[in-house]
Amino acid sequence: MSEPRCSEWSPLKEGVFRGVWVYLEVVDGEIHEASLQLLSKAREVADILETYVGGVLIGSGVSHLAETAWEYGVDKVFLVDDERLEKYSPPLYGYVVSELCREYRPEGLLVAGTLRGRELAPNIANNLKTGITADLTMVSVDKETRDIILIRPPFGAYMLAHIKTRWGKPVMGSVRPNVFPMPEREPGRKGELVEYSLGELPSYGVELLETRRIEKAEEIPIEKARVIVAGGKGLGSKEGFKLLEELANLLGGVVGGSRKAVDAGWISHDRQIGQTGKTVKPDLYIAVGISGAAQHIFGIREAKIIVAINIDRYAPIFENADYGIVGDYREVIPLLIEEIKRVRMELR
Ligand SMILES: Cc1cc2nc3c(=O)[nH]c(=O)nc-3n(C[C@H](O)[C@H](O)[C@H](O)COP(=O)(O)OP(=O)(O)OC[C@H]3O[C@@H](n4cnc5c(N)ncnc54)[C@H](O)[C@@H]3O)c2cc1C
Repeated sequence: MSEPRCSEWSPLKEGVFRGVWVYLEVVDGEIHEASLQLLSKAREVADILETYVGGVLIGSGVSHLAETAWEYGVDKVFLVDDERLEKYSPPLYGYVVSELCREYRPEGLLVAGTLRGRELAPNIANNLKTGITADLTMVSVDKETRDIILIRPPFGAYMLAHIKTRWGKPVMGSVRPNVFPMPEREPGRKGELVEYSLGELPSYGVELLETRRIEKAEEIPIEKARVIVAGGKGLGSKEGFKLLEELANLLGGVVGGSRKAVDAGWISHDRQIGQTGKTVKPDLYIAVGISGAAQHIFGIREAKIIVAINIDRYAPIFENADYGIVGDYREVIPLLIEEIKRVRMELR
């Protein structure tokens, strides 16, 4: 059986494909760092193929970001600045990027593996009936055939898969944040601007109505909080609560305390948890430097998951905890904060 050719699979007809593109995700009016990081790899590949680096910039009121794109190494910015793109929608944005690909025929397209990127990339690949390699970690190029080979570790195996997209164009890959280094910024560097006007847009049943930030931690009453990070006498001082606040804010939760912490004046009485304080029922309760006296446990019986952090492996709190970490909170909490931030960054 003969192999299907590009034209049979892909709406992009056979012909000349040039350029290595990066989709430049815009978040809060700026190009996402994870997208800018991809420009260093795009440049390497483009140089081998003796072609240009393209940046796809779409949205509403985004044209000024072309300068940032040029300064980070984009040669040609493909811009679609249209009021109708004000609200992000994966099928709509996927349609627009696909239209650009149909018109300008890039040979490669990299998308940052952020939360949005992971949704968007398969949308584009599906529109163009091309292949996509998720979470690639390396790229190699066969200069003679112009094949862009995307490399990633396969699930659960100690090897590397070299993936060649045989029939579709562009060759697409998504890349998790921080896999490739940020390219050096060259202030004042200029490139080309290709503006594209959209005709009538297809209508999709799905629309993003509103984006809401997580409520500020202090505004949530402790009885209603889904996440509580509570501190006890083991924190040693009021200062220790600052670390707990940072963790609670990251998790969209609030800070509470044991009676001893309240008696010490490190936290207000309305935040005391236990028999003579508040009874709470969060999804996640993190007890830090709290021994686990019966009067305290009384207040957290309804918590779904209890995590205890205590320097004493024999502390009674561990008998009531679903997860226990034995260690000094001053070492454990910063590690937790760092890890949560890292994972968040990956998911953005
Ligand atoms: C009638 C009555 C009502 C009460 N009501 C309440 C109530 O509502 N709420 C309440 O909480 N208590 C209440 N208590 C008090 C309760 O009995 C305990 O004394 C209190 O809960 C202990 O607080 P704590 O766990 O913070 O301190 P501690 O018992 O002193 O425990 C401190 C813990 O911190 C750990 N630690 C020390 N350094 C570190 C470190 N660097 N890193 C990590 N861990 C460390 C220690 O190993 C220890 O386990 C009540 C008591 C009575 C008699």
